[in-house]
Amino acid sequence: MTVYSERPWIKLYGAGQPAEITQDYPTMLDTFSASAERAPTAVAIKYFDGVLTFADLDQRSDALALALLANGFGSGDRLGVYTQNNPAFVIGLLAAWKSGGAAVAINPMNKERELAYLLADSGTVALLCLDELYESVAKEVIASKKSAITTVVTFSALDEQSRNDERLFSKMVRLRPQGTLDLEEIYQQYRGEKPPLVVARGDEIAVLTYTSGTTGVPKGAMNTHQTMAFNAQTYRDWMGFRPDDSILGVAPLFHITGLIGHVGLALLVPCALVINHRFEPGVVIDAIREHRPTFTVGSITVFINLSGREGVTKADWSSFRIIYSGGAPIAPAVADQFMEKTGLYIHNIYGLTETNSPSHAVPLGKRAPVDPHSGALSVGVPVFNTVVRILDEAGNELPVGEVGEIATSGPQVIPGYWNKPEATMASLPGGELLTGDVGFMDADGWFYLVDRKKDMINAAGYKVWPREVEDVLYGHPAVREAAVIGIPDEYRGETVKAYVSLKPGASATEEELIEFCRATMAAYKYPRSIEFLEDLPKTVTGKILRRELRDTSR
Ligand code: AMP
Repeated sequence: MTVYSERPWIKLYGAGQPAEITQDYPTMLDTFSASAERAPTAVAIKYFDGVLTFADLDQRSDALALALLANGFGSGDRLGVYTQNNPAFVIGLLAAWKSGGAAVAINPMNKERELAYLLADSGTVALLCLDELYESVAKEVIASKKSAITTVVTFSALDEQSRNDERLFSKMVRLRPQGTLDLEEIYQQYRGEKPPLVVARGDEIAVLTYTSGTTGVPKGAMNTHQTMAFNAQTYRDWMGFRPDDSILGVAPLFHITGLIGHVGLALLVPCALVINHRFEPGVVIDAIREHRPTFTVGSITVFINLSGREGVTKADWSSFRIIYSGGAPIAPAVADQFMEKTGLYIHNIYGLTETNSPSHAVPLGKRAPVDPHSGALSVGVPVFNTVVRILDEAGNELPVGEVGEIATSGPQVIPGYWNKPEATMASLPGGELLTGDVGFMDADGWFYLVDRKKDMINAAGYKVWPREVEDVLYGHPAVREAAVIGIPDEYRGETVKAYVSLKPGASATEEELIEFCRATMAAYKYPRSIEFLEDLPKTVTGKILRRELRDTSR
């Protein structure tokens, strides 16, 4: 069978989109250097009222690289970057590369146990860290000598801006933790100096990103310079990005969507990236009003939140040219509601940490179809230079329309997991990524995600895919967020339970929502019980945590 290798989806690409692209730069360091040289005065980062140009990023990262080198950091070493969406995140990546090393992107929500695991697993020797995270979490981990950290550089979220927005910074003061180097002082100390030139290789690790860990222990995905640079360019070329475009950074930068779809893209174009420390909806809305960004990509929960806020109007959204949402399923009803409120179409984009963000996306300007049987909104078509196959349990290709595991090969797929040869063999046999997602391709070449393999509910032998039930619930006018799980049931083995949060001011009863689902779906699928929660548990990347709901329901 050759149906997938013939890439039937290419005909769905937009006008001017080639089937293949040639990568402009072999590494992220080359990507940045070319932009800094070409457009030193272009704005790279907007942080409240602070502005950093490409030349600023270059000088600051030169200084940090020199400080790291002076403290024994060298070729192949790893710098942990443990921050929110602050300018220092980008400076940390650049400095790690300029000193011949790699960065480890660390979730700022991580607590001692998680941080200790990541630092030890990655063999991180230096840490760039928000001062408050140092005081509250990192200090103890480093003192316990469970890591190989020898150098810590701290900075404040107040740096690089002077507005001190009360909604985020009301209680914040600049700390100066003892035993750490201060990033601002480093900038002064090495002002005007350049580190020795480093030539990175495409196959070297640029960033270790730890997979969300929805199953098992977190694994360090080896996002190489080449795989990252390729998919930064995928964003640019897929969306026809221009230097007068600008990016609203709603996704956390440590996670793959923010890392590639915000940072990588801004460094490549080059263009401005608007960041706001952390996601505070009112602050983000004000940033949209102030900076008038043209593009963003983020999880659907972000868009539900922002568009549902009181006082937010179509005019607020009018600067946007391009909106993509990935990381979690989009219910068609939610995309429609967003369109109604904002006048903007949400393009679906799908990928994993292991694919450096997109393996699939809806071509710009096209409308993703909805599968008539499952009600799923298509996640798009495979992006440039990429082949995606649907496989059965034995690894054989399935025909068009049949449901199986999504398997992806392309220049954006990581070569493996850090120090985990067995996990690499299991998930990336022969270099093709077995995603753990179940889906299918239709006759035209659109792909649909049915669900995560492990989230399937088995109700009396019938397969129920939670996403399908959630999509129906989202169609109810009172429902804000929905998550569906299987719970043990004496008679059916497992049965369907939904957790729902309601829109502000809306009301609905359990019976009403059950009836609403029953009216549109097969009897074995509709939820037998519904629990209302104020808010559904989510990862910091916006994924609703079905796992956590499963744990609490037992
Ligand atoms: P992560 O590695 O944290 O980026 O998570 C990747 C997972 O997020 C995928 O395996 C999917 O299960 C899910 N995902 C990503 N994009 C989408 C999308 N557009 N629709 C549905 N699920 C998605």
